[in-house]
Amino acid sequence: MSYVDEVLAKVQAKNASEPEFLQAVEEVLESIKPVVEANEDLYRKEAILERITEPDRQIKFRVAWVDDNGQTQVNTGYRVQFNNAIGPYKGGLRLHPSVYIGIIKFLGFEQIFKNSLTGLPIGGGKGGSDFDPKGKSDREIMAFCQSFMTELSKYIGADIDVPAGDIGTGAREIGYMFGQYKRIKTTYEGVLTGKGLSFGGSLARTEATGYGLLYITEELIKCHGQEMAGKICVVSGSGNVAIYATQKAQQLGAKVVTCSDSTGWIYDPEGIDVELLKEVKEVKRARLTEYAAARPSAEYHEGRGVWSIKCDIALPCATQNELQIEDAKTLVANGVTAVCEGANMPTTLEATKYLQDNGVLFVPGKAANAGGVATSALEMSQNSERLSWTFEEVDAKLNRIMVDIYHNIDDAAKRYDKEGDYVAGANIAGFEKVVEAMLAQGVC
Ligand code: NDP
Repeated sequence: MSYVDEVLAKVQAKNASEPEFLQAVEEVLESIKPVVEANEDLYRKEAILERITEPDRQIKFRVAWVDDNGQTQVNTGYRVQFNNAIGPYKGGLRLHPSVYIGIIKFLGFEQIFKNSLTGLPIGGGKGGSDFDPKGKSDREIMAFCQSFMTELSKYIGADIDVPAGDIGTGAREIGYMFGQYKRIKTTYEGVLTGKGLSFGGSLARTEATGYGLLYITEELIKCHGQEMAGKICVVSGSGNVAIYATQKAQQLGAKVVTCSDSTGWIYDPEGIDVELLKEVKEVKRARLTEYAAARPSAEYHEGRGVWSIKCDIALPCATQNELQIEDAKTLVANGVTAVCEGANMPTTLEATKYLQDNGVLFVPGKAANAGGVATSALEMSQNSERLSWTFEEVDAKLNRIMVDIYHNIDDAAKRYDKEGDYVAGANIAGFEKVVEAMLAQGVC
């Protein structure tokens, strides 16, 4: 049995109840096989694969808070500090009822390689809670965030672990958490990213993941002799990533004709009205039916269905495993050219393989959505310098980082005779740097 298969079997036996984590590990280990085979004796002796698939530590804690009726509620909080070989742990906090340790581990594991790909000194971590922010009052959100941070504050710090936003954690939640950290620690430090601009946030962080997704997509198709102008794009989601991906796609001359949320989706053949979408989702925090009600050209449909719309480029920006094999078949039948992942692991393994086998240009989330964490690292730099850069400076750095990531993963794929396989390229390029640091730091 090869070393990769041996470790995969061990990870499967040990984490059998965590399918999302197993899916992420399987994808990475399968695609780094050529690198591992070239160094098998050394990696086996140093237990590199066992170490990289086992978090440095997993923290799980109770989050008790009081709702507006005076009732005490209890949620579970998590922080998985996965690997800090190349820098302090860095990764978002997800607040969603589906959160359990397997989701946080999959996200933390992916984050190791994503953070490595940015070229910046940040390790991999992730956290969150099964708390559902939907329908909660502002006071309830604050009560939850303060209780969550009271416990989390023991384990994080500007040079230790720097959390950020993710699903359900936006500027409001980061603000409440930062306030509580400062109050407990009596220290003003860049312990969280995604902060408000008046207290250490970076310009362009809000836009970064969506914009970055479009910068890498643009470079990808440019290197394949095409341009964004005139392309029809299908986007899923209507949160932070989806909104700014849509905005940048439109700025580049493409037309985005869909968006979705957890209950339904919109088809708007005239192109999504981003300002209206922002008003509905960011200000009113309402359902997409409100978008359709205000926009005569838009159709609202219940359930899922964005992938049934004919497009040149598909950008899944909502959640994991939202693009499945049947969706991949429909996209291919409709002539899709490229699929670039704005969300983390939105495409199932089977769908990914189908797209790649049918000649679709496919860039995985760990490369395509790395603009968010890269800009978070730029926020950390600005906090350390006690300076803030202009929007244009940050945006230009983000663009450079995304273009570099594309060429880095393209080169890595070519070096291992896998030209055009950006899944392998991203995993290999991300892995090589982390392993070099792990080997240099000895057994730990
Ligand atoms: P938001 O909470 O802002 O938006 C998430 C969107 O996805 C919403 O439209 C939400 O619908 C929808 N959604 C969430 N869960 C489900 C589900 N189970 N089924 C269907 N739709 C769902 O999150 P973000 O935009 O920040 O994150 C989206 C994805 O991008 C995630 O995978 C995240 O990990 C990833 N990501 C985010 C980064 C960032 O900087 N924000 C950085 C890198 C990756 P509804 O409104 O109904 O809840």
